[in-house]
Amino acid sequence: MSENLNPFAIAQAQLDEAAKVLGLDRDMHAFLRQPQREFHFTIPVKMDDGSTKTFQGFRVQYSDARGPAKGGIRFHPDETIDTVRALAAWMTWKTAVADIPLGGGKGGVVCNPREMSPGELERLSRGYMRNIARYVGLFQDSPAPDVNTNPQIMAWMLDEYETIMGHREPGVITGKPLPLGGSAGRGPATAMGGMYTIREAAKVVGMDLKGAKVAIQGFGNVGSYAAKLIQEMFGAKVIAVSDEFGGIFNGDGLDYHTVAQHLANTGKVINLPGSEPISNKDLLELDVDILIPAAIENQLTAQNANNIKAKIIAELANGPTTPEADDIFESKGIYVIPDFLCNAGGVTVSYFEMVQNAYQFYWSEAMVNERLDNKMTTAFQAVNTMAQEKKVYTRVAAYLVAVSRVAEAVRLRGWV
Ligand code: NAD
Repeated sequence: MSENLNPFAIAQAQLDEAAKVLGLDRDMHAFLRQPQREFHFTIPVKMDDGSTKTFQGFRVQYSDARGPAKGGIRFHPDETIDTVRALAAWMTWKTAVADIPLGGGKGGVVCNPREMSPGELERLSRGYMRNIARYVGLFQDSPAPDVNTNPQIMAWMLDEYETIMGHREPGVITGKPLPLGGSAGRGPATAMGGMYTIREAAKVVGMDLKGAKVAIQGFGNVGSYAAKLIQEMFGAKVIAVSDEFGGIFNGDGLDYHTVAQHLANTGKVINLPGSEPISNKDLLELDVDILIPAAIENQLTAQNANNIKAKIIAELANGPTTPEADDIFESKGIYVIPDFLCNAGGVTVSYFEMVQNAYQFYWSEAMVNERLDNKMTTAFQAVNTMAQEKKVYTRVAAYLVAVSRVAEAVRLRGWV
């Protein structure tokens, strides 16, 4: 039978496995398998050529048992409701494993932002917010950036929301530009949080990070900061990076600044002078110490899992690994830092942003990073200890920690 690559089916299968190990009550399990609430809507946008194009938008509030829903908005031509549901479920487990007082949500628009002008993107972003304004807020649901959305898009959405509501409420959305109430350190936060988990995982497997060879798939917000930070913080050597157009390789290491400059000049990482081309497929199979998927879902599957040589897989992307690939990694003894632990730094600093917005009092980047390190290290240790005590794979351990926390909140509320 071929692998089921539907992200929501995968998210549910992961929960099912954890429910079995946890001995989760049947009614609780059934409740946690579905989103609590979802919104499907159309967004008519006046295009620059005078036509009106109708886009499909989604917002899923998977769980608000532990606090207001929280999760990014993705603009992508292949967006589907099941992708949004899966990402919203993973946000629920992520905020729980990071132990921040928030639930899980996610949003998306089926669109290709690369084909849209800034004006069209602004009208789409405002139209998205007009559809969900009544259902989001500091104490309801707070969106954030994800693939193809950025601080400027958050600023347009914030402005639309505050215009509709007639008051200022910066915590309704995070990942904002600094002058509108963004947090210091939010840009690199996801990658930075991942670095703290890589540091801890390296201690567990006994790896010296200085000179460790690293391959990174995806060179967007998360992947590019990961390339920068892993070199700067640990002296590791990034030998390959890629984006959707292909990858580049240099066995002596790729300098982050040179790649970033080349990307800024050409829009792609490929054809960097002094590098060799490499496909996204081959990049994943390189002989490296650490593999960092930082692009999209379903990159590590039954097809390629046996060829993966990394000792640590740090999942900065959401959902890069299928359950079949997980089984193979477990049998090969590869240390996987599961996505909703590894990439929890973004939502953790988003939470710090909400706290700062509520107090109208802002922290330095050093303070943000110190508090982030604390949260990520505590979360990593909770998962690693669970994996050792229950003798389970790290992803299952992360689910055990997260699901039991969410289930406890659901029970305390008397819902199930
Ligand atoms: P981004 O849009 O800034 O970058 C995505 C990168 O992936 C780009 O380099 C793009 O070219 C590349 N890419 C897209 N399709 C690809 C493909 N088929 N093969 C190879 N590369 C491909 O997005 P981002 O914010 O960096 O997010 C990357 C991943 O991290 C996503 O899975 C996202 O859900 C996850 N994530 C992001 C954050 C955040 O704070 N931005 C937080 C947690 C998790």
